[in-house]
Amino acid sequence: MNRKMTREIKVGSLRIGNGMPVVVQSMNCTNTLDVEATLRQICALHEAGCELTRVAVPNMDAALALKSIVIASPIPVVADIHFDYRLALAAIENGAAKIRINPGNMKDESAVAKVAAAAKNRGIPIRVGVNSGSIATAVVDRFGGVNAQSMVYSAMNAIQLLEREDFSDIIVSIKSSDPKLMIESYRLLSQQVDYPLHLGVTEAGTVKEGVIRSAVGIGTLLAEGIGDTIRVSLTGDPVEEVHAAYSILKSLGLRQRGITLISCPTCGRTAVPLIEVANEIESRIKGLPYNIKVAVMGCAVNGPGEAREADIGIAGGDGEFLLFKKGKPVRKLSKENVIEELMTEIHICGKDSLYRGK
Ligand code: SF4
Repeated sequence: MNRKMTREIKVGSLRIGNGMPVVVQSMNCTNTLDVEATLRQICALHEAGCELTRVAVPNMDAALALKSIVIASPIPVVADIHFDYRLALAAIENGAAKIRINPGNMKDESAVAKVAAAAKNRGIPIRVGVNSGSIATAVVDRFGGVNAQSMVYSAMNAIQLLEREDFSDIIVSIKSSDPKLMIESYRLLSQQVDYPLHLGVTEAGTVKEGVIRSAVGIGTLLAEGIGDTIRVSLTGDPVEEVHAAYSILKSLGLRQRGITLISCPTCGRTAVPLIEVANEIESRIKGLPYNIKVAVMGCAVNGPGEAREADIGIAGGDGEFLLFKKGKPVRKLSKENVIEELMTEIHICGKDSLYRGK
């Protein structure tokens, strides 16, 4: 896949853009003032593979709490700022690795200039985070609505404002809850800037619906080579955002983390409890670090073929399963023991893949 080249921006120890692996990020849903709960969630996110997280900084107390969070966090922490530039200054002072500002609600140019000066002084980047829900009324009127043109215009205005302050340590996002609008906006923006792009479908919905909308929006752009970091926004546990992000990236061969599970939809030929087995295996492999492919197939029609292409797999037969390893049929598994036996084989194969550095 040809990725659009962007300039490289450092966020703490991370490098975003310039063809670097697409960075997976999330956002805490804890109260930032509750430092312990926030750190607990950051650790869970980190364990799931999250590389960068954002916390809300709605008031000065939250900006102060950031200090303890940043010190103990295993990953860089971004401060999410709206309305008040003084919160951005305090967050920078307290160690934020990046500041996210929304140009739609930070109207005072001199305030943005102060944030740029402070960020420059500390050597941290700013994300210009345009959101279709908060485009200035004058811009909406000028472009005849909330559309790709008004979104890009808002982003370019904020970018130029920072550039006038001699600040170019910028990452840009231009999100909408409508994947079609989001896709169109990012496409247009990517023709105009070479700053790294943070992709996301904002307010995408619940875990079930939001994953699909995010996969459509983020996945389409990534497949075109657009995007340097992604956040899947879900109404739910942010750890699910990280799992979803890797599923999108793995589908496009952009990142490898965790097991890829292939399973068939079942049909009238299925003579084993495949849905049960696939769901149980899916929940048990979640979070395992092995980079292997596991196939759970219903029958001998496509089953063995798919199972053979996987590192390990099972294909259903008449009330039992056939186990495949590295393309070769190994032995039969009874439907009573199939989950435990397959999990044992997954651990053996997975540990071997880690040992070989796969
Ligand atoms: S693999 Fe077999 S059971 Fe599964 S959908 Fe295909 S034909 Fe049906």
